[in-house]
Amino acid sequence: MTRTRWVFFDVDQTLCDFATMMRRALSAMLIEIGSRWSELSGRHLPEDLEAIRNRLADAYGDRPVPLVEVRRQMFAEVLRPVGATDTEIDAITEHYLGIRFAEPVIFDDVLPCLTTLHGTHRLGVVTNGNSKLDSLGLDHFFDAEIAAERVGFAKPDPRIYAFAAESVGADPAELIIVGDSYEKDVLAAQRAGWQGIWLGREVSRTGRGRSVTCGRCRRCSPTARCSPTTRPSPRETQHPAPAGTSAGWLGLARERTSGPRQTG
Ligand SMILES: [Mg+2]
Repeated sequence: MTRTRWVFFDVDQTLCDFATMMRRALSAMLIEIGSRWSELSGRHLPEDLEAIRNRLADAYGDRPVPLVEVRRQMFAEVLRPVGATDTEIDAITEHYLGIRFAEPVIFDDVLPCLTTLHGTHRLGVVTNGNSKLDSLGLDHFFDAEIAAERVGFAKPDPRIYAFAAESVGADPAELIIVGDSYEKDVLAAQRAGWQGIWLGREVSRTGRGRSVTCGRCRRCSPTARCSPTTRPSPRETQHPAPAGTSAGWLGLARERTSGPRQTG
């Protein structure tokens, strides 16, 4: 049985509530924009800027998104119609980037989990975003930080997982990733030979979510408790931890401490 040596995490909406951090920063920027260009005062909501950003980012498909440039283009779409200069657009973008991590929002279950795992495993992150661990105050827990923009491949491309495994000198079967995206963090990692654990924060928060069949019993949904009557194959999907709960994270920590439940 292969021992799990490294536990990797996704970052945005797994370790940090980036959505809240982003909207808070965008709200502050809209106030500043409204004070400098009065014709824009009250015209946009943070969600409007987010929609522009997502449209621009979607154009990159599965390729890594140049995140700072996309932010700049987002502000440019709003500011060019009122005559803002490139210098002013650059300054607004820089200010946004500066305040975005001013007050990091770390999920309540993260520090207990990382503290427990830190003593027994090497920890890393694989992220498509640019929320840096030192900006979040979490860098002291981690030994590897793999970012799509620097690697040249973005999740769900399995090549970013292969890159991460090679970077830390581990066999994929020794690696686990925990993340909030079933497709990018779980299925993609499994295709690369890793184990993937889905942290369904959005399902936990809203009670809604995509219908995903549990890989352990093939019947229950990830929001329900699984009581499989048939034995899962070792390569099947890791049964999701209880979504978004400290019990789920610490349960993972305990399982990994006492030995892997499933190995790839
Ligand atoms: Mg995520």
